[in-house]
Amino acid sequence: MRNPGDGLILALLLIPTLLAAIFGWPGSATAGQWLGYMGRLAGVAGLAAMFIAAIVSVRLPGVDRYFGGLTRLWKQHHYLGLAALLLLLIHPVLMALSRVPFGLPAMQEVLWPASGDWVMWAGWVALIAMMVFLAPSFQFFGRPDYQRWKGIHFLAGLALLLGLLHTLPLTRSMPPAVSNSVWGILGGAALLIFLWRAGPARRIMRKPYEVTRVRQLADRIVEIHLNPIKGKRLQFEPGQFIYFTPRDESLSAGRNEEHPYTLSSAPQDEGLKIAVKDLGDASHALQSLRAQTEASVDGPYGLFFPPHLRHRKQLWIGGGIGITPFVSAAEFLRSGGNEATERWGDSVLINCANDPSRAYYADSLKEAADSARALTLIPHYFAEQGPLNKDFVLAHCPDAGERQWFVCGPPALVRISRDIARELGVPASAFHSEEFDFL
Ligand SMILES: Cc1cc2nc3c(=O)[nH]c(=O)nc-3n(C[C@H](O)[C@H](O)[C@H](O)COP(=O)(O)OP(=O)(O)OC[C@H]3O[C@@H](n4cnc5c(N)ncnc54)[C@H](O)[C@@H]3O)c2cc1C
Repeated sequence: MRNPGDGLILALLLIPTLLAAIFGWPGSATAGQWLGYMGRLAGVAGLAAMFIAAIVSVRLPGVDRYFGGLTRLWKQHHYLGLAALLLLLIHPVLMALSRVPFGLPAMQEVLWPASGDWVMWAGWVALIAMMVFLAPSFQFFGRPDYQRWKGIHFLAGLALLLGLLHTLPLTRSMPPAVSNSVWGILGGAALLIFLWRAGPARRIMRKPYEVTRVRQLADRIVEIHLNPIKGKRLQFEPGQFIYFTPRDESLSAGRNEEHPYTLSSAPQDEGLKIAVKDLGDASHALQSLRAQTEASVDGPYGLFFPPHLRHRKQLWIGGGIGITPFVSAAEFLRSGGNEATERWGDSVLINCANDPSRAYYADSLKEAADSARALTLIPHYFAEQGPLNKDFVLAHCPDAGERQWFVCGPPALVRISRDIARELGVPASAFHSEEFDFL
């Protein structure tokens, strides 16, 4: 297990399931009773997964690092949600099948409960709510609009509440005191986190900043400079990202909407910098963001370069706008003095771009590589050299197979890099990647 948070998630999932498995053990029972037992276990595990998915959606700077960073935490949230949905779909099927020996009316009590049986109906409505609110996350109907998806996804909190109303009165899997404690703790924590996200989180976590400069980096890419309006600027590490919310009234889209952007400035710089590529409505509007307007910043989040690996030899592969975490790290190595270079292992950066005009930050990366002892820069241009391949990597970094790999860029580049790493015998645990995509 790579992170302490992984152990916590596993424990939260296993404890209720094991308790239900032990207390509900049917012994030498009939097939129908066994089906009922399995159905209840699926229900308990599914509900626990659903609550844990809600708990890990908490977004607090510094907390995500115990789970391997926010992007990893979101992936776990996603998989827990999927597991919950599948288990909760199986739950009523097994419960209904367990009633087969008692005839059709007994099965019907599960599949179509009596009108006054609100406990059973709460379970059904919770399940339907989950299907409606979570289906877009699994892209069953194609890729959804991100902001609309976020709004719909948030309504999944309703399913949490209904799930509790269904489970608390049905204590057949565990003794009532145990059941109330388990669901009270898990459900209570999930609901608190849900209310925090829906209410005060935005007001408290977003800090006011001023946009001090907007610089055109290349076609459809701007670099935004930010300074805190009051208080100190946030402390961060190379590779981390913030949620940026512009307040510029003249923006055509995305005003007051938060979006994640990796910090491209070095941790020791005066202000913060992000580079924004035009990839949709909000990022398109940011291309004409005005200086001297207000914005807010929430963060930092993420753990792209885990601290325990920084002293190891590294291979960095950055493509397109995915170069930003490496720009921050390169600036850190350049201006962080001896302390920085001593803490970081020797790093080779392959800067992948279509052609030199799309190699953002090429000049500053070259300057950093010229002055930082531990950094070597290798440009790679798709238009001239074709896709990145093993021979290119080995020609410029002969010991690539023994290095820690850090890759950030479009999905195709991450895929190709992973294939090359595999061919070179790099273990999965030495391959770290980030795609600028949460869905
Ligand atoms: C960890 C991380 C770091 C990123 N760093 C950078 C960076 O340094 N520079 C850069 O140009 N882009 C970066 N991005 C991508 C950037 O967040 C999206 O391009 C931007 O949010 C697109 O919004 P839009 O309204 O313009 O486009 P849309 O058409 O609304 O969105 C395009 C896609 O961007 C993603 N996206 C949109 N809004 C959000 C959101 N609020 N949270 C998470 N994902 C979202 C979704 O996958 C969506 O499908 C990063 C993304 C992530 C997850």
